[in-house]
Amino acid sequence: MAGEKAEGVGLPLCPRCNAPYLGIHKKEVNGRTYLYAYHGKQGKKPVYCYLGPADSYVHVESVLPLDLKSLEDVNLLAVAFNAVSLYAVRVRRSGSEEKKEAALKLKHLAEDILKIAEDLAR
Ligand SMILES: [Zn+2]
Repeated sequence: MAGEKAEGVGLPLCPRCNAPYLGIHKKEVNGRTYLYAYHGKQGKKPVYCYLGPADSYVHVESVLPLDLKSLEDVNLLAVAFNAVSLYAVRVRRSGSEEKKEAALKLKHLAEDILKIAEDLAR
């Protein structure tokens, strides 16, 4: 499953081509903002995949694999990891105060996850 691949390389997956992407780029055209997944450079040319208009719907799509047939096929851990990766991509563009706050939220989340893991290992 594509989500497992993303977890392995530690990058979120592009919903268009299923390859991991390095970041999300925003482009403004006629006052509307559009999102593109950035895949790095091929020679000198940057490679982008068009994701869609910058609304919350797109972000949900970026986190969930599009090729799933039912909810049972979803790798929940990969989804969780991709969601956190995407969160980090978005927070990286904000101010230092917001970044500090986001880092604290992630640490608390990590502690909660660790508690669940320790409980399962018992
Ligand atoms: Zn892509």
